[in-house]
Amino acid sequence: MKTIYLDNNATTQVAEDVLDVMMPYFRDLYGNPSSMHTFGGQVGQKIRQAREQVASLLGALPEEIVFTSCGTESDNSAIRSALITRSDKKHIVISRVEHPAIRTLCSHLGMQGYKITELSVDKNGILDLENLEKSMTPDTAIVSLMWGNNETGVIFPVEEAAGMAHEKGILFHTDAVQAIGKIPINMKNNVIDMLSISGHKLHAPKGIGVLYIRRGTKFSPFLIGGHQEKERRGGTENTPSIIGLGKACELAARNMEKENTYVKRLRDKLEHELLKRIPQSRVNGDIGNRLPNTTNISFEYVEGEAILLLMNELGICASSGSACTSGSLQPSHVLRAMGVPFTMAHGSIRFSLSVNNTEEEIDFVIEKMPAIIERLRGMSPFWNAKEQACSKQ
Ligand code: PLP
Repeated sequence: MKTIYLDNNATTQVAEDVLDVMMPYFRDLYGNPSSMHTFGGQVGQKIRQAREQVASLLGALPEEIVFTSCGTESDNSAIRSALITRSDKKHIVISRVEHPAIRTLCSHLGMQGYKITELSVDKNGILDLENLEKSMTPDTAIVSLMWGNNETGVIFPVEEAAGMAHEKGILFHTDAVQAIGKIPINMKNNVIDMLSISGHKLHAPKGIGVLYIRRGTKFSPFLIGGHQEKERRGGTENTPSIIGLGKACELAARNMEKENTYVKRLRDKLEHELLKRIPQSRVNGDIGNRLPNTTNISFEYVEGEAILLLMNELGICASSGSACTSGSLQPSHVLRAMGVPFTMAHGSIRFSLSVNNTEEEIDFVIEKMPAIIERLRGMSPFWNAKEQACSKQ
């Protein structure tokens, strides 16, 4: 059975060109870039090139790029650094729809005595900047708001938000893990202090990330050890993955516009056809302001996990907006924050596409989904009760 992979916000396939540039650094050029000998030194040269490639995608300076192990590490490093460099301040502002890499960290910090403000979003997942304005106090160390939401794709106005934080002398971090490579980002156009990236969301390998730290921003490292990354992140460099990420960024910079036009067309076709063919379905999130590859669709009166199982039988991979926690199916924190009704939130599916998807794959999904939903609704007492009520009217 062929796999139709529509779960690219979870992770992406490593691009062929990325794999090609990485391979020699496992097999032959395995030296340590910190070594004095030429064998190690030649690897250092490639890391410099990768740093330039990442910087170029971001419109940043190479020295503003710090390689980490993942997006989670970058997020944790940014927040923890702010709390150390601004140790007199005990308040953090985030949103209710941040990824657990920020939200769970902040819950832990809350238990350690820090005050956390979680900004709400409206029913379309949109952030109200007036609330941000009101939430910042002289005690605020950092504001951290994601650029693009991993579940709905909704884009936050982070550049504006960073300006507001700066006016009050507050640091600003953004989790751009989902936004990078999908929308243009130019750090010359904003005052964002720190920004997180993860390689495996843009066709580079898992286990490599970046923290962008604007020149002049005080930083305290999370991993303390050797002199790597100009003392901002200890640990021997993950050479093959750094080189792979550099290549992935070069490809993203070159192909972003073309690829995202293609991906958006497929996403829009999928969304349009599913809404047309399946009654009581709707899109979650601001449709005019989303990442081009993501659609989050609710099918009322069915369980997302049941939908995923039937999709899986056909080789279709996606994600659901509910997670089985402590034996009960809880809709995701993102959909709850948006106030999506329970009957809708439970049956939500996130389809996230990439340039590797084909028109035929999308047509197959469009053809199969209506029968999946109909079959599950046939087993749903709520749907049947509703149908009966409607037919009596
Ligand atoms: N932030 C967002 C928005 C994400 O979607 C993810 C991963 O899903 C992360 C952070 C964490 O990245 P990583 O898996 O590299 O730790």
